[in-house]
Amino acid sequence: MANLASTPMSAQLELPFAPLSVNPVVTTATVLDGQPVNYILHRSHGRRRISLSVDDRGLRVGAPLRASLREIETVLRDHARWVIRKLADWNDKRAPSRRWESGETLSFLGLPLKLDVAHGTSEVHLTQPHLHIVTPDHSAAAVAALAKHWLRGQAAEHFHRRIEHFRSHITLETVSIRLSNARSRWGSCHASGRISLNWRLIHMPQHLIDYVVVHELAHLREMNHSPRFWAVVGSVIPDYTARRREIRRESHRYLVD
Ligand SMILES: [Zn+2]
Repeated sequence: MANLASTPMSAQLELPFAPLSVNPVVTTATVLDGQPVNYILHRSHGRRRISLSVDDRGLRVGAPLRASLREIETVLRDHARWVIRKLADWNDKRAPSRRWESGETLSFLGLPLKLDVAHGTSEVHLTQPHLHIVTPDHSAAAVAALAKHWLRGQAAEHFHRRIEHFRSHITLETVSIRLSNARSRWGSCHASGRISLNWRLIHMPQHLIDYVVVHELAHLREMNHSPRFWAVVGSVIPDYTARRREIRRESHRYLVD
């Protein structure tokens, strides 16, 4: 519980790019074998030695609180070939960007929608499993703008509904939401009672969106990741650990643009 002393007043849901703790985390850069390499440095009390891992967030370095940057860089250099190979695999696995053409699919509440682009006055409508996008301008940018505008609107409505559904179980406060466009974070919460939710969550299945919504609502009660916080989350979503694992494993698929 020693961590609680440094509990921040604004807690972020660090999925998928940061750890579930309040320990110091910084993004750092170095050069290995002539290649620039970014990594997330995560120092913690309990850690005895420097460790390297590559997951859906990229390269992470775990280190004892007192490890010097020189020691860390030495470990990185000793494992340069491994790091570079793993990062290359990671880059290959990342979702390709969209072309915004007819026939392409995008995920909406976890279900595939097929894009159907047609010429005409700007309009978007959903006839599952088709998302019809009508535009006088067939450019990818025009189609993307219309589609994202529609997705953001759907996201805002969906988040409002789910917050209303869960709010009374967790907090008496009124909650305001803001749609975020972050590339590295699904949600965050401010002591003022405002929650930010990434509009791209609308790509995910509802049970994962619910996990993020409940996680942020629970921060209005507990601005930390203490056992008390997880007890609040668990009182609403008993299987939250499975959902958290699923988000960590799958969320890179939903960050496509
Ligand atoms: Zn959190």
